Amino acid sequence: MSRILVVEDESAIAELISINLRHAGFEVTLASSADQAQYEVDRVLPDLVVLDWMLPGQSGLALARQWRSAVRTKELPIIMLTARAEETDKVSGLDAGADDYLTKPFSTNELLARIRAVLRRKAPEALDSLVEISGLSLDPGTRRVSREGAEVKLGPTEFRLLHFFMTHPERVHSRSQLLDRVWGDHVFIEERTVDVHVKRLREALERVHCARMIETVRGAGYRLTQLSAALQA
Ligand code: CA
Repeated sequence: MSRILVVEDESAIAELISINLRHAGFEVTLASSADQAQYEVDRVLPDLVVLDWMLPGQSGLALARQWRSAVRTKELPIIMLTARAEETDKVSGLDAGADDYLTKPFSTNELLARIRAVLRRKAPEALDSLVEISGLSLDPGTRRVSREGAEVKLGPTEFRLLHFFMTHPERVHSRSQLLDRVWGDHVFIEERTVDVHVKRLREALERVHCARMIETVRGAGYRLTQLSAALQA
């Protein structure tokens, strides 16, 4: 389930957004100031942030800029909300690093459509689309993993880990990035936890001859790669 952080100081709007997002299957956390939003992001990295521009104290715009300049949050998907419809505001919002921009009042259907579009582009593991690489298919809807009819049984963490790898293939992910993106926590969980779950994942994938798709990149982390044609046979 994708985690969405809604940063909005007007409680009626915050409530309306969170009810609709929860109804659409998202897990929602609310924050009413930039400080609180930063606290929530430090605690658990969300899959996406809906960020109001006008907040008491530090503005949403300044917060977006701050997140973009920090290593941990520079890829964090952000949709900016604003009551101001001027074109220059839209430009500064996007300049500050927002992935999309919505002017109040907006319909919740439009917000949902924008959220899905941004997630598809930046965090496809947060959506329920089926993914397939080298014949290995993973269906988040039914939580099934299989290859050529043979099913792979995975625990919930191995499933999330494989889902993340398959939606971000051929890229090296450090243990700390994996903790953030798969566990949502990089502070309280030790990095060797990642190694334990990667080992379990490889053992499970062995059954369908896909264990070597998960590569260890020395000194850097892990990567999921396609099976070469010769090995697929
Ligand atoms: Ca506001």
